[in-house]
Amino acid sequence: MKKNIVANWKMHKTRQEGLSFLAALDHTEHVGVYIAPPFTLIQDMAEFVRGTSVRIGAQNMSGHNSGAFTGEISVTMLKDVGASFVILGHSERRNIFLESDEEIAAKVERAVCENIPFILCVGEDREEKNADETQEVIKNQLVTAFSSLTEKHLKNAQIAYEPVWAIGTGDVATPQIVDEVHMFIQEVLSEMFSRETALRTPILYGGSVKPENFSALVELKSVSGALIGGASLDVKLFNQMIKMIKD
Ligand code: PEP
Repeated sequence: MKKNIVANWKMHKTRQEGLSFLAALDHTEHVGVYIAPPFTLIQDMAEFVRGTSVRIGAQNMSGHNSGAFTGEISVTMLKDVGASFVILGHSERRNIFLESDEEIAAKVERAVCENIPFILCVGEDREEKNADETQEVIKNQLVTAFSSLTEKHLKNAQIAYEPVWAIGTGDVATPQIVDEVHMFIQEVLSEMFSRETALRTPILYGGSVKPENFSALVELKSVSGALIGGASLDVKLFNQMIKMIKD
């Protein structure tokens, strides 16, 4: 399976900075390169990469299609400006903006109905980890998010295991933890759908990934790539990580 590298820029960069990043981006066809800038950069960046394999997407979207939802962006609007994927259920959406598992499920359903590829983020916080609740938390997140889906709806889905305690903290999960949790996610997908779906659905790792720890994580068989926040803002670091993915 082709490995994917996903940049989550959060609330960073102007349009000019986004385009300068793309001008310096060194991508190769054997790696899936996904970039999720702020909404305001999507159109310019999508036009810049048109005709290449680089995908530009969004960090979030509404669970509604249109209506009186001040400040929200619908999937139709995203597609209109050229977004070709969307990240859903990021822990900053869950924890800062208090998105519930049910709201995230509505967004997943919307993405599926509108046929936009999505990356669902799941992961436990430090307290849950210390209480040995990682599997329970992740299973709940997956079961709720995918409750209305059938196997065929997962063909455009990726899952990102993003332990909250590792995001932006420099405290990266060990390859052993990542491997165990990714296998567990596969088990849950097998139970919910089928073994085939479980093996076909890419599972990314995210949480303080940088060039120093990238290879040990991404080379694991259970890891289909990485979702990267901080280190994806610097094109030199991002290029370095793309190069580390072997053919
Ligand atoms: C993220 O925002 O999804 C993330 C993994 O951030 P960082 O790489 O900075 O930990």
